[in-house]
Amino acid sequence: MINLILFGPPGAGKGTQAKALQQKYGLVQLSTGDMLRAEIAAVTPLGLRVKDIMARGDLVSDEIVIELIEKRIAQPDCREGVIYDGFPRTVDQARALDAMLARKSYPAPTAIQLVVDEEKMVSRLHERIAQMKAAGQTPRPDDNEQTLRNRMKEYHEKTEPVLPHYRAKGALHEVDGMEPIANVTAAIESILDRDSEKKRNSLAAG
Ligand code: AMP
Repeated sequence: MINLILFGPPGAGKGTQAKALQQKYGLVQLSTGDMLRAEIAAVTPLGLRVKDIMARGDLVSDEIVIELIEKRIAQPDCREGVIYDGFPRTVDQARALDAMLARKSYPAPTAIQLVVDEEKMVSRLHERIAQMKAAGQTPRPDDNEQTLRNRMKEYHEKTEPVLPHYRAKGALHEVDGMEPIANVTAAIESILDRDSEKKRNSLAAG
């Protein structure tokens, strides 16, 4: 089973890569935001507890998120592995994930950071908007430079502090996210293949 965490600022191509990995390895993408919204929509006790917290944009407690993940990865469709999306959001969540995976005898997570040139991402956004307008389409209201910059800032402030947790364990791999999509996918695949081999060998040795 693969436990993959994709890091990278908004627009770095995490969604695109997740889709490719889903096809090749049968990995399931787990978005904690989507899972929480589903609980709210289904009016479960958990949904009722998190509704106001999410409406304020605050983080839901680590226990709730870990419990959701633990239940979800036990489902049969996750047997090949999962890609975490929007998780872990804090160092405490990263630690809790490690502990939970170890307790269940699942492999430790592999973290991949998609490294991109953010000024180029902003230029690409402008190109995309210009193309849409030229084709007579209306860009989404959140498809603008200010929103993209806000989301990048949030990524730097909130998510990046989680990276050293994985770097310290030698579990963080950097991939150049500015390369063509297929090259990025190939780079991620070779990291995953090497990593599974390493884990198999250490199991065999241990
Ligand atoms: P997202 O769809 O990832 O932007 O998440 C939407 C909201 O769900 C966030 O603002 C949080 O309230 C909550 N949420 C999602 N993932 C997490 C997480 N890993 N830890 C805590 N809260 C989360």
